[in-house]
Amino acid sequence: MIYLDYSATTPVSDHVIASDRDFHKQSFANPNSIHRLGIEALKGIEETTLEIQEVLGCKNHEVTYTSGATESNNMALKGIAFQNKSLGNHIITSPFEHGSIVTTLNYLSKQGFEIDVVGVDEDGRVDIEDLKSLLTDQTILISIGLVNSELGIVQDLEAIKKTIEAYPQIIFHSDMTQAIGKVKLNYELADLISLSAHKIYGFKGIGALLHRKDFPITPVIHGGKSWSVFRGGTPPTSLIHSLGVAIKDAYENLDDHCKHIKELNDYLAKGLRKINGCMINSNAYSVPHILNFSLVKTKANILQDYLSENDVFVSTTSACSSDQPMSRVVYALTEDMDRAQSSIRVSLSHLTSFKEIDRLIDLLEDYHESR
Ligand code: PMP
Repeated sequence: MIYLDYSATTPVSDHVIASDRDFHKQSFANPNSIHRLGIEALKGIEETTLEIQEVLGCKNHEVTYTSGATESNNMALKGIAFQNKSLGNHIITSPFEHGSIVTTLNYLSKQGFEIDVVGVDEDGRVDIEDLKSLLTDQTILISIGLVNSELGIVQDLEAIKKTIEAYPQIIFHSDMTQAIGKVKLNYELADLISLSAHKIYGFKGIGALLHRKDFPITPVIHGGKSWSVFRGGTPPTSLIHSLGVAIKDAYENLDDHCKHIKELNDYLAKGLRKINGCMINSNAYSVPHILNFSLVKTKANILQDYLSENDVFVSTTSACSSDQPMSRVVYALTEDMDRAQSSIRVSLSHLTSFKEIDRLIDLLEDYHESR
């Protein structure tokens, strides 16, 4: 089996599994309990939280644990929109956002919020002049992801932050689900940050919203006293611990991993360029972990099925919108329907070998020749 879909999800690392097993042997109490065991469990969350803030360089952000980035995105967008609706009703986003942002913003638009989608330049980066033209005194929230999940394009958060500085009422959210453990940056540029463990070799079902300490958020999940006043429920202590381990591991080896992944990406791109009719959709601004290409005139799901029958696993769009007949993100970048309907995302890992890339290229060449 050759797994090349690491941006959809990653296998859980041996280290995360081992530390989870150890954790369960030591701690099981409810951190909301006020007896000694509960207080110790709460202390464990505090320690993990300090580590996460330290590794990510986000000491001015509070960490609210969620079930994953979908919930974090819901919490960020609904939480700020409802909290600050007396200040304005205008929200700006980009055409490259994940489905969980798009659908939440569609919901908010039905609740009376005005949503604008900023344009992007030919490299898929937010057009700063267009952003300037959209800003008004009514703008309360901007949501722009750091790394897009299909093309891997990295946005210039510094330039975006600088552009909105003149509007102190604007809160800046960035979905960093595909960026954490891949791109080093001053993450504190964003007031709110969404992330998820299962993209960084952690468990599914745990993520976080980091949010600056100086403003409240209307909760999406109401409940009693808990770790966060913004999200009710008994905190999943072991999952929180495992998220901390996954985040630390991701940064410990980031440079070495990125170097290997970049070499794999270059190797794959070279192989793809030899195939007639193959167009690479990712570009110089993309993280090396994602290489999106189109074998034009071959529907993406047909090629994906063929690869899958041969035990090679890639994505068409992002996993959460894989029922769509075309990639809206590739279309937004290329304005080419053929490319959008035939786009394939290969996502790479430090676990990927050159031999696996060879197999993918061989299969694509065979497919192309047999047509
Ligand atoms: N945002 C982005 C950019 C993603 O890639 C994903 C996962 N496909 C999500 C949000 C949703 O994450 P989760 O599966 O943790 O809800």
